[in-house]
Amino acid sequence: MVTRVAIVGSGIGGLVLAKTLTQYGAGKVEAWDEWKTRGGSLGIQQSSLILEKLGLKEVFDALANHPKATKYWSDGQDLQKMVLDSIPPEVIFLGHKLESLTEDDKEVTLTFANGKVDKADIVVGADGIHSVVKKQIFDCGEPVHAGFRLIYSCSSVPIRPNPEEVHVNWISKDGEGYHVMDWSAGAADKRHDVCLLMMRSEELISDKWDSTIVKDKLKELTSRVAPGHEVLHAAIENAEMCFDWGSTFSQCFQLGFLPNRE
Ligand SMILES: Cc1cc2nc3c(=O)[nH]c(=O)nc-3n(C[C@H](O)[C@H](O)[C@H](O)COP(=O)(O)OP(=O)(O)OC[C@H]3O[C@@H](n4cnc5c(N)ncnc54)[C@H](O)[C@@H]3O)c2cc1C
Repeated sequence: MVTRVAIVGSGIGGLVLAKTLTQYGAGKVEAWDEWKTRGGSLGIQQSSLILEKLGLKEVFDALANHPKATKYWSDGQDLQKMVLDSIPPEVIFLGHKLESLTEDDKEVTLTFANGKVDKADIVVGADGIHSVVKKQIFDCGEPVHAGFRLIYSCSSVPIRPNPEEVHVNWISKDGEGYHVMDWSAGAADKRHDVCLLMMRSEELISDKWDSTIVKDKLKELTSRVAPGHEVLHAAIENAEMCFDWGSTFSQCFQLGFLPNRE
């Protein structure tokens, strides 16, 4: 009997798994995704070895902004598309949002929001931080904001005087601590100057925030926390992309190394 594997989620995790299983002929593979558009820059280090093992080295290096050291992507979606294009099209089902899973002695039944129903022997939850698969298997809620926040900016205009240096500072302000870093990723015309601010924050990061809103937030914070840091301000001012990250605790399981919330 051929094992039926259903992968829920075709982010980079689900796609690489689908590619690996199909390439090595492991069962009947189907990957399902609601496929929202997303983007953002990505720096890929050691994990590029996995893509190389899957025979994607050439196309990966050709697409990466800076193929030598850290592979730097201006748009993470290009990376997904690269893997997607290398998988037989009959394996991928886009436009399918998983709603529920039920299981009996024989198989798992997957029901999608568009009414499609699929049966599988193995289900892999690769459906990201708000995973429906995880919530259903562990019967748990949404991840909880852990109170840490990290905001950073990326500028292709070379502002930092010495790209070889990485600056790491700890600044105390009004009883709060801020971790401030700046460094340069990539080289020559692929260089990006990056500034990062990490802090405690109970403010929830909204997925509606676009890069401009995040940039304004970063400017406001850095002018308060590091008013005299001119290089930092110039790098943020010139940034084309800004990101806002929050760390979360999974309610499904907690990894041992995560700090206690208190
Ligand atoms: C701003 C930002 C910057 C980052 N920078 C880096 C970096 O530089 N380097 C790095 O290595 N990592 C970086 N990361 C982390 C990296 O993006 C994630 O680790 C990676 O995307 C996780 O991949 P994934 O496939 O597990 O999940 P995701 O990329 O989240 O993919 C999950 C997929 O599941 C789908 N899905 C969700 N729910 C359903 C459902 N109910 N039914 C069907 N499909 C569903 C979604 O559409 C999505 O395609 C960054 C993350 C962020 C947010």
